[in-house]
Amino acid sequence: MRDTAPVSSTIRCDGCGREVSSEHLRERVTRLEWASRFRPIHITTLFLAPAPPAVLEDAFYSPEDSSGAGGSGELLEDLLDASGASGEVESRQAALTFFQRAGFYFAEAVECPVPPTDRFPEVLARLTPTVIRRVRHSYRPQSVVLLSDRLGPLAAALGSAGLDAKLLLLDSKPISLPSSDAAARARFRSQVQTLLKLTTV
Ligand SMILES: [Zn+2]
Repeated sequence: MRDTAPVSSTIRCDGCGREVSSEHLRERVTRLEWASRFRPIHITTLFLAPAPPAVLEDAFYSPEDSSGAGGSGELLEDLLDASGASGEVESRQAALTFFQRAGFYFAEAVECPVPPTDRFPEVLARLTPTVIRRVRHSYRPQSVVLLSDRLGPLAAALGSAGLDAKLLLLDSKPISLPSSDAAARARFRSQVQTLLKLTTV
C-alpha cells in the first residue's frame, strides 16, 4: 500500500535513483547549487561526464580550487584552453565565469557519485531515459560532448532519441577524460578543439 508510512528513514534520490542518506541528498543539492551559479541561459555546448567525483569539493563547479593532479581544476583548464579562452584567468571563479560566457555547461549523466560496488553501465542504463529528458527539456544545448568512453551506450541512446545532430563525436565515439600526464592532457585538448570546430562550420 502506497499510503503506508515507510519505517525506514532512507529516501530515494532523484539524481541516482538509489535509497540514500540525508547527507547524500545534501551533497547533491550543493553540487546543483554550485553548478546553477554558472549555468548559461543558452547552453551552446554541454559537456557530459559520467558521474561526479566521490569527494564533494572535487566537483566541477566547486568553489574550492581543486588544483591537484587529475582534479576538476585541470579539467576546467583543459576545456577552456581547447576553446581558446585560457591565459587570462586568475582565479577559479574567473575561469568558471569564462566557461559560462562561452556558453559551456558541464554536467554528469549520473548526478551522484557511483560507489565502486555499483556497476556503472547498469546505473547508466537505468538513468538513460532521465538523461535524455534532461538534455532535451532542461539543458537544450546546441551540441553535446560526451566525456568518457563509458558513455558510449548513452551516445547510442541519444542518437535513437533523435538527438544525434547535437552529438559531437570523434570517430563515432565519445572522447575520454585524460589522466593527468601532460601528453594525455594535450591530446584531450586537441580532441575537444576538433569537436568544438564542428559546431562552427
Ligand atoms: Zn543520488
